[in-house]
Amino acid sequence: MRSAFYNHDIPYLTQQIYLNNELIATFSRPRSWRTFSDDGWLSAYPVAWVCPWCLQTWAHSTFQMPDGNFDSRPFDLHSVSCSTCNKQVGSTPPGSLIELGPNDFPLDPGIIDFAPQDLLEREFNILLSKAES
Ligand SMILES: [Zn+2]
Repeated sequence: MRSAFYNHDIPYLTQQIYLNNELIATFSRPRSWRTFSDDGWLSAYPVAWVCPWCLQTWAHSTFQMPDGNFDSRPFDLHSVSCSTCNKQVGSTPPGSLIELGPNDFPLDPGIIDFAPQDLLEREFNILLSKAES
């Protein structure tokens, strides 16, 4: 299933996720994946999660290439509320690193499929608290 969804001809990358400038996850994942609408491939890209209410960059993600060099492309800015402001933007709950696109599909499924257990538990708790509110 994953072999059809992910492009394994392209090497795996090491993704690092920082929460408030503190490293919280490092994991290996494929560089690109097929979109849910099946209209092509998307590539992993450095991301900074910026809160549109207080303008804090509360999380960011970098990629290390197989040759050891860091991805030097500029960060893609994603608008997601920080957990302090706690105001929903679109479908993505405040403080979530798993952004939801149209039809609530994750924009980057690689985080769900390859991230370590504690990061997924963090996301689960965010979704649970949203469901309970
Ligand atoms: Zn904020």
